[in-house]
Amino acid sequence: PGVLYLCPTPIGNLEDITLRALRILKEADYIAAEDTRVTKKLLNYYGIKTPLVSYREQNKEIMGKKIVEDILEGKRVALVSDAGTPGISDPGEDLVKKAVNAGVPVVPLPGPSAVICAISASGLSTSKFAFEGFLPQKSAERRKQLKKLRDEKRTIVIYEAPHRLLKSLSDIKDILGERKITVAREITKLHEEFFRGTVSEAIEKFGGAKPKGEIVLVIEGAKSGTGSTGEVDLCEKEDIDKIIR
Ligand code: SAM
Repeated sequence: PGVLYLCPTPIGNLEDITLRALRILKEADYIAAEDTRVTKKLLNYYGIKTPLVSYREQNKEIMGKKIVEDILEGKRVALVSDAGTPGISDPGEDLVKKAVNAGVPVVPLPGPSAVICAISASGLSTSKFAFEGFLPQKSAERRKQLKKLRDEKRTIVIYEAPHRLLKSLSDIKDILGERKITVAREITKLHEEFFRGTVSEAIEKFGGAKPKGEIVLVIEGAKSGTGSTGEVDLCEKEDIDKIIR
């Protein structure tokens, strides 16, 4: 068979693409892209003329099967999403599953992803983190999901849309309580911003003008011993003893 290449593309700054990704995009039989217009801009910038097909949420079943069949017949397909690493909170996940199930070689290329950029510059603990992707859009479901995260000690990373930012921040404050948070906005773009503060400060900051652009939230994990489950891990007992004393 051929191969499915996972090609990360810039999350803003067009220079953020590896030499290898450019070569693979050039050499592939075709590129499967989430939004062919977005990818066309990138290809034009680098003078790449490889044919594009559309692979997106709405056609992922049919196109996914077709792409896997093409690879089984020997084609080399490069998958790109709108931005960042394909398969991370986008329909690429589905194509990779199909390819793996069909025994097709899947080759990942390292490159930009909003989650890694956001956490790396967050100023919060990076040694362990839980990536939540997007929270549910409906408030009740979002709050339910946040309740599950109440005792999460690892740093929490969430993808957020600008028009839901304020609602999510206020749900975060209600459910997770006051914590440190970094709001990473427009990473690698002209108006890149890392807001670092408490959840209340973030609400104050973004409450005025409607926030714009693409956003990642990085939230401090729960402090040891403040969990409400009542269950105490043996290795935590010593820490908790210190707090109690
Ligand atoms: N596959 C992509 C990746 O590896 O980052 C993520 C795809 S997901 C559909 C899109 C979300 O990623 C946005 O809603 C936003 O939360 C985040 N994102 C993408 N680009 C960003 C940027 N330049 N700055 C901040 N967040 C970004």
